[in-house]
Amino acid sequence: MKEKYLLHVCCAPCGIVVIDELRKTYDLAVLFYNPNIHPEEEYLKRKLGVIQACEEWEIPMLDGDYEPNTWEKAVSGLEYEPEGGQRCSACFRFRLSRTAQIAAKEGFQFFGSTLTSGRNKRADVIHPIGEDVGTQCGVRFHAEDWKKCGRQERGRKMADERAVYRQNYCGCRYSMKHQIPE
Ligand code: SF4
Repeated sequence: MKEKYLLHVCCAPCGIVVIDELRKTYDLAVLFYNPNIHPEEEYLKRKLGVIQACEEWEIPMLDGDYEPNTWEKAVSGLEYEPEGGQRCSACFRFRLSRTAQIAAKEGFQFFGSTLTSGRNKRADVIHPIGEDVGTQCGVRFHAEDWKKCGRQERGRKMADERAVYRQNYCGCRYSMKHQIPE
């Protein structure tokens, strides 16, 4: 019997290759919990991309609440931090903590996140946070740097083949000023 694994997915371009890899080994479910995304219209676009990816392989998707005010409180005082700084660490903790809580409540053996897929997202920052919240909740965190082993290239190809919506900023309103030209 396959072990149960809850994967936090931030967006379809990051998630698609990870979902395809993990579904072969685990009894996989996806959690979309990203209240950092601003505005809501953008949140809905990214969520739709993840729903479509899950539908392709019939992976169940848990739909986390969109609670931007709660997220704002979690990063309060860190608004002017540069991208990759303390605001991002608080943002990672906020999302991974909820993932670990749900994984524990629903009887998953493992949880993980596609956050390390992003080319500017450091695994050495994200993994200790995952380990910490996993220990607190009693669920094992799967520490994997998803941008390695050719996954970025494979993921880009898979996303292009499916015409997946691709955003041009990380997600929160503070990151909008860093939009990357297409
Ligand atoms: S830049 Fe990205 S990771 Fe950092 S706080 Fe904003 S949404 Fe979260």
